Amino acid sequence: MSEQECYIDHEHPLLEEDSFCFSCTPEKECFTACCYDVNLVLMPYDVVRLKRRLNMRSDEFLKRYTSVHVGQGSGVPVLTMNMERNSFKCLFLEEGKGCSVYEDRPGACRTYPLARMIHRSVDDQITVRHYVVREPDCRGFEAGARHSVKEWIEHEGIAPYNAMNDIFSELLQAKNEAGVGSLNADQIEQFYLGCYNIDAFRDFFLNGPNLDRYMEDPQVIERISQNEDALLEYAMRWVKKKLFSGCSCVGCKAF
Ligand code: SF4
Ligand code: SF4
Repeated sequence: MSEQECYIDHEHPLLEEDSFCFSCTPEKECFTACCYDVNLVLMPYDVVRLKRRLNMRSDEFLKRYTSVHVGQGSGVPVLTMNMERNSFKCLFLEEGKGCSVYEDRPGACRTYPLARMIHRSVDDQITVRHYVVREPDCRGFEAGARHSVKEWIEHEGIAPYNAMNDIFSELLQAKNEAGVGSLNADQIEQFYLGCYNIDAFRDFFLNGPNLDRYMEDPQVIERISQNEDALLEYAMRWVKKKLFSGCSCVGCKAF
């Protein structure tokens, strides 16, 4: 890897209609260089897409492909994708071919060379800005085709990832607003269950005995039983309510 650092062009925020020049093709000499030694943070929806792609349960996927780091001070568990031990290659990279999970690759792999940042005001107004990220070894900016941010989001299938990431960011915002400090071990377990381990959440919430399910609208239970994406949305909001709403009812306290 180059000695140069990755650079985010904070000086030039892009709106949806703004454009940038970039092309990533197998002909580029750097092809797949970005799939080595990468600090790839996985978001809740990344896990759901990848474990479905691999036809495995989320707990199995998490154990085999990810590491967890608990944020110092926040106590929030953060997932990163494991790389191959000796080569530091992404476990989903097939030499000479490319990404073996391309249609379900993580949001960060789709969004590059853009970074999406959202700002949520106290009255819940959201402002979205995109920024160009320049990895030093990336040749994608040389003779790159012009795209608007909107076109890039559509072409790379980023919208469902953004929608789920916004719900996750609501959850983190609620933590900040509630003034909750570092999460304790039980809270970390609940956070991990609802945000990352969707099959274990399904076992616990839909199939096990718990008060929350009996208190929920049967139509909601029907919907989340049949649709895994809806279950993930529900699970993240369950974490928010459970840990950061300040509610002390029996349902919120029971786990
Ligand atoms: S152009 Fe950039 S994104 Fe594409 S393969 Fe090369 S390093 Fe990766
Ligand atoms: S998931 Fe695919 S695109 Fe992303 S780093 Fe791994 S091989 Fe590369």
